[in-house]
Amino acid sequence: MSADRYDVVIVGTGAGGGTLARHLAPSGKRILLLERGDWLPREPANWDTHSVFVDNRYVSEDTWYDEHGKPFQPGIHYFVGGATKVYGASLYRLRAEDFGEIRHHDGISPPWPISYDELEPYYTLAEQRYEVHGARGEDPTEPPASAPYPFPAVSHEPRIQQLSDDLEKAGHHPFHAPCGIRLDEANMPYSPCVRCINCDGFPCVLHAKSDAEVLGVRPALEHANVTLVTGAHVLRLETNDAGTAVIGLVVERGGETERFAGDVVVLACGAANTARLLLLSANDRHPNGLANGSDQVGRNYMFHNCRAVLALSREPNPTVFQKTLGLNDFYLANGEFEYPLGNIQMVGKSQPAMFRGERPGETKLAPGWSLERVAKHAIDFWLTTEDLPLPENRVTVDKDGRLTLSYTFTNDVPKRQLDEKLRSLLGKLDLNEGHLIKRFAYMKNDIPIVGVGHQAGTCRFGADPATSVLNVDCRAHELDNLYVADTSIFPSIGAVNPALTAMANALRVGDHLLERLA
Ligand SMILES: Cc1cc2nc3c(=O)[nH]c(=O)nc-3n(C[C@H](O)[C@H](O)[C@H](O)COP(=O)(O)OP(=O)(O)OC[C@H]3O[C@@H](n4cnc5c(N)ncnc54)[C@H](O)[C@@H]3O)c2cc1C
Ligand code: SF4
Repeated sequence: MSADRYDVVIVGTGAGGGTLARHLAPSGKRILLLERGDWLPREPANWDTHSVFVDNRYVSEDTWYDEHGKPFQPGIHYFVGGATKVYGASLYRLRAEDFGEIRHHDGISPPWPISYDELEPYYTLAEQRYEVHGARGEDPTEPPASAPYPFPAVSHEPRIQQLSDDLEKAGHHPFHAPCGIRLDEANMPYSPCVRCINCDGFPCVLHAKSDAEVLGVRPALEHANVTLVTGAHVLRLETNDAGTAVIGLVVERGGETERFAGDVVVLACGAANTARLLLLSANDRHPNGLANGSDQVGRNYMFHNCRAVLALSREPNPTVFQKTLGLNDFYLANGEFEYPLGNIQMVGKSQPAMFRGERPGETKLAPGWSLERVAKHAIDFWLTTEDLPLPENRVTVDKDGRLTLSYTFTNDVPKRQLDEKLRSLLGKLDLNEGHLIKRFAYMKNDIPIVGVGHQAGTCRFGADPATSVLNVDCRAHELDNLYVADTSIFPSIGAVNPALTAMANALRVGDHLLERLA
């Protein structure tokens, strides 16, 4: 075994790891990125609906188990850039209220140990690094921001503009959704993004999506002090005899075992795999898993209580890039509901081949309609209700690394109410009244926990070592040089997409590390 030593070793190159690498790179410190996946191949299949949605070409071959021991293939992606390679690039800030305690239908969403104001400068920087397009001042729930969006909002196509106008007429506050696509509408001949239909759930063959490979890892690698090793699956972390510091990372690469070391080690493997790695690194000093004296590692798993639905427009919906509109009028408790319902946004436009990868049977609600006709008339919505961090909702591993995900849904009532709320609006939106057809976007079979895209919360940060895994700097309470910088750290998840928050927090952790290493 060789033991290469670095100042910082980052495990995982997604929203957390890729963002952190770019932030640390100019420091000149020796930085190693260990990524179990490879570069995602740039190939025509990137944009082939059947390959992506039916053949699951870019989904890993992992098998996980539910709490009843039933195996499933999680919708997880091991590539440089992690899940952001296929994400929908809706780059939302959490609301300021999400950082405090919120009372929900099913219980309490706990506060974060930092305030929104502390994360705000990092949200601004993350929006700049990820070239986010948006418009301030349209969404009444929008938290205060210290700078405008770096790029103008992506324009609505005519049918979505009509939807926006109709929502306004009905007394609502639709807004231009924050998008991480590198689109220059004022200069299309030079725009990296061509505004296509194959964005949400697909890799971008043009590298025009603001993902963590394109805007995290690649800029980091322009610095000679940054090294990326792909195909490097970190199996275990080793500690000193006292158990107070990580002294080595054991890696499986090309069938061989290799060993790396760093003064500081940062885990950013995604919420389930970060917990898995800590649990698999149990030793005499950490018998229940590394940094797990609190028994919190793996617990409080969240992934949003989501639903993708489509409504049938009376007229065809020829929209190409549909994810330009959001609605947060039911995000917080209001006069009508005494607890939050969640966020409504658009999801990538339906295509007939997607239904074949999902569940075509639902078209019985539009009798006599072909899948092609349903897709042509579909307006596709994504509803997100916050799920609560329950200690029993957790990742566990056995000694062979077999991962079990135990999960009980929360907040089903508000989720249903959000659906009903949208349903009740359909007539006013020039949509066929009465039914929303359920879409199984991202979820390739009938086990809902397969859709792990928004996974979070397995190593929450907090001030109290008895109830959290990490301190406020996201350093393990029990180890001096071990940090986590992905969605694992979330004490609660809010009801907006998580990536920008993971990016912003990685920048915050990065600033702490720059100070520590100075
Ligand atoms: C289809 C889809 C659509 C989405 N759309 C959106 C959206 O529109 N907006 C949004 O905000 N979020 C979206 N998300 C979620 C978003 O992508 C994630 O929240 C975000 O990428 C999480 O960042 P992370 O750093 O925690 O993990 P990831 O980005 O998943 O990165 C983890 C990395 O660690 C690597 N890794 C794992 N284990 C090991 C190991 N043991 N050794 C070495 N490397 C390892 C993985 O290969 C991966 O590269 C979407 C996700 C999916 C799947
Ligand atoms: S919409 Fe733009 S960023 Fe998204 S896949 Fe198409 S070209 Fe790429």
